[in-house]
This record gives sequence, structure tokens and C-alpha cells, in this order.
Amino acid sequence: LVEVHGVHKSFGTLEVLSGVDLVVKPGEVTVVIGPSGSGKSTLLRVINHLEKVDRGFVAIDGDLIGYARKGDTLRELKEKDILRQRTRIGFVFQSFNLFPHLTALENVVEAPVSAQGRPRSEVEPEARALLARVGLADKADARPRQLSGGQQQRVAIARALATRPKVLLFDEPTSALDPELVGEVLDVIKDLARTGTTMIVVTHEIGFARELADTVVFIDAGRIVEQGPPAQVLDHPAHERTKAFLDKVL
Ligand code: ATP
Ligand code: MG
Repeated sequence: LVEVHGVHKSFGTLEVLSGVDLVVKPGEVTVVIGPSGSGKSTLLRVINHLEKVDRGFVAIDGDLIGYARKGDTLRELKEKDILRQRTRIGFVFQSFNLFPHLTALENVVEAPVSAQGRPRSEVEPEARALLARVGLADKADARPRQLSGGQQQRVAIARALATRPKVLLFDEPTSALDPELVGEVLDVIKDLARTGTTMIVVTHEIGFARELADTVVFIDAGRIVEQGPPAQVLDHPAHERTKAFLDKVL
């Protein structure tokens, strides 16, 4: 269970998240849509503590993210503990962010070994299986620059899965791809959705949202304006701002 509770986040005088509440149940796919600058990426980044919240909290299965409770106060975790905590939250970025000097296989193996301290002998066969799952069994020894954008993004998905996270976060995973490569990445994400992976996906692919989301969240100016099943939010939006946004993107 992913719980975002009363989260506020400002950059200087700009309040980017203004009290966001969100609950994602195990096995559910939540798709976040909204205009540019509305706070979608910031929301994902506070979930894994890449940005610190100013107020509110994020918890996964009851554990606070980024903090430990000490009596009545919260103390930020040490960097090492934050890194370990982040292995419970897979993150797939728009721009892949693979380690350029490592092979596809090494990219997938890295976090389970270095952040989770698992033995390489156990991790490596799992990593190969994950590469096979995203259709890249034959690319284990390729480096990112030898791969297409779609292939790089599929390696990034395998890497995000390698730590056996509780939830996967996707920030516009297909928007940096040439149009003909979008389908292969969406197919992998669809496969994950069908097999019960808990996910929060920021995307402009409304078709994807309609097909796969359990919940669609529309965010505008740092607030969740409405959320619900796709048939409700996408086809019968209750708010003018949602309607105006959908008119523009559909
Ligand atoms: P897009 O659809 O364009 O990706 P978004 O909904 O993901 O937009 P965010 O990236 O969350 O929007 O940004 C929300 C606002 O916060 C923007 O005005 C952005 O300029 C600002 N912002 C984000 N990160 C920072 C930062 N590190 N420092 C200062 N301002 C920031
Ligand atoms: Mg963004």
C-alpha cells in the first residue's frame, strides 16, 4: 500500500504540491495526468524521497519514506538507509538514465548487489530472466549507446524490477521515444499491469490510461482535481479543468 498524505512541496516561493493525498492499493495501476508544470514529476520524486516533503508524509506498507520516527519527532534517514529504502520503489525516468559505462546486464544487477547486498550469483540469473521478460535476452552484453531508445527504456524497466520493488513509478516513460518505439515499451508496461505490478504512471498516453488504469488522477496546479476509474475521469469528468485538459490532449 502506497500512501501519500497531505503532501506539500515548494521550490522557493512556488508551491508545487499543495496538499496531495493519494492511496495506491497493491496490484493497482494509477495513471496521473495533468498539464505541464502541474507537479506530476515532483509527486513521483517525493514518493521516493528524491525531493523532501515540506509537510505531510509518504508511507509504503506503513513505513515512512525518508524518515524514522523518534518519539514525537521525525528524523531524516541516513543516505545509506534512504538508498536501501529506494530499492522498494522502482523508478523509470523519461530519459532512461542507464549507467552508460555498464552493459544492460550490469545495469540490472547493480542495485540488488550494491544497495541490497544480495549475492551476485543469485542476482545475475534473475537479471537475465528480467531482460528476457522485456524481450532483450540477446542484449545482455550491449551498452546503452548500442541500444535503441525503446530497448534502453526496456532495460530501465528490468533494472527497476530487479530490486523486487513494492511499487513502480514511471515518469512519462515513452515521451522521449520515436513514435515507432512507443508500442514496444507500452507493451512491457501492459504486461506488468496484467501480472499485478503496483504502478503509478505519469503519461500523456490517454489510450493507455483508458485501457490499463484502475484509477486516473488528474492533477492541476499542485492539487488533485479529481480521481476515479478511467470511464469516469476520462469520459465523464466532473470538473471544468479536467474537461479543458482532456479537450486539448484527446
Ligand atoms: P511536465 O508535464 O512538463 O513534466 P510536471 O507536471 O511534471 O510537468 P514538475 O516537473 O513536477 O511538473 O514541476 C512543477 C513545477 O515545479 C514547475 O513549475 C517546475 O518549474 C517547478 N520545479 C520542479 N522542480 C524544481 C526544482 N528542483 N527547483 C525549482 N523548481 C522546480
Ligand atoms: Mg514531469
